[in-house]
Amino acid sequence: MASPSHPVLDAHTDEGGLVELQILAKVSAAMASGEPYDALLRRILTLIAQVAGGSKAILAVTIPQLSALIAELPAATGRTVLGEQAELVSAGPSHTLLTDWEGSTEPVLLDESSKLVLPLAVGGVLVLDPIPDVIYVVPDMQLLRILTDLASGTIQSVARVAQADRRAAALEDTRRRLRERNTQLREQAVLDELTGVNNRRFFERRLDYEYERLYRYQLPLAMIMFDIDHFKVVNDTWGHPAGDEVLRQLSALAKEALRRVDTVCRIGGEEFAVIMPNTRARGAVDVAERLRASAEKLRIETAGTVIQITISLGVIAVEPDWVGQRADFFRLADEALYAAKEGGRNQVRVAEGTAL
Ligand code: GH3
Ligand code: MG
Ligand code: MG
Repeated sequence: MASPSHPVLDAHTDEGGLVELQILAKVSAAMASGEPYDALLRRILTLIAQVAGGSKAILAVTIPQLSALIAELPAATGRTVLGEQAELVSAGPSHTLLTDWEGSTEPVLLDESSKLVLPLAVGGVLVLDPIPDVIYVVPDMQLLRILTDLASGTIQSVARVAQADRRAAALEDTRRRLRERNTQLREQAVLDELTGVNNRRFFERRLDYEYERLYRYQLPLAMIMFDIDHFKVVNDTWGHPAGDEVLRQLSALAKEALRRVDTVCRIGGEEFAVIMPNTRARGAVDVAERLRASAEKLRIETAGTVIQITISLGVIAVEPDWVGQRADFFRLADEALYAAKEGGRNQVRVAEGTAL
């Protein structure tokens, strides 16, 4: 460990004091300018290097968070009073300067190296490498003390702002993750995990809503129910994962074939429903027939093979003067689907009471 020789306060006096006044004027102007604390800190540290006539200033801070901050400051350079460049270097808490000078409260001038060690109230030291032959006089030391106190205060302000920034960023991060999680939960609540189309839960709610709209807005309502033909055979022959792929591709096809206002829902294992608001029988049957034809053309490449399927469909379409219940609406569509199966599959059947 380097040993202090003597405090420098007993050096001789500068008569004019003009330089200090200029420096103090500069620093008070900088403080009044409202510039960010890190810029202000760099300015004060540069002034310190100028006052000390140093060629190099090393700033080391004991508080880990602060030293991380200081390390982020770009090294400042300033012109010394003697017209030379002063370099400002920042160091972390492991720097030997700190173990050497921890706890010191008085400025110390090291004889053998001519280093000037200035303790910082914030916890740390500023070590200056003075230019050889510079004599430190009493007013300079007082000025340096004022400046190091200002630097300490500013370092604390930098830390406060950075901590506030970090807190704000963490808060924003938490908010963003909550928003994402909410969206995810909302989607999970209404979407079928395997196929990405709406789930049964959503179907029930949507049908309630559309059934009410049928009367309130006097708009027609249609629904298609469809089911994959002999799907058990697909699973038994090619395995369950291949069956899943069929369900995914058929769902994608259905979503693509429909209007945005139509809702595709997976209401059972391989059974789907499409709710079509403001749609009459003719239109609904056309959509059903289109779905049937494109399902038949679908070639699902999976499990090292190409799987082809057909679907059976039941269609119901009612006008606002319809007197049936919501349950009847569902049952009649289901019966139409059953009729399509009975009729030989791969076909569209219209529900009882639905007139074309
Ligand atoms: P039908 O033409 O009369 O509709 O005959 P089907 O074989 O399609 O009907 P069935 O009700 O006998 O069999 C339905 C099959 O659908 C049986 C079941 O294993 C399969 N299934 C239901 N859900 C899933 C699923 O999520 N993934 C897969 N891979 N298969 C499913
Ligand atoms: Mg089936
Ligand atoms: Mg079925």
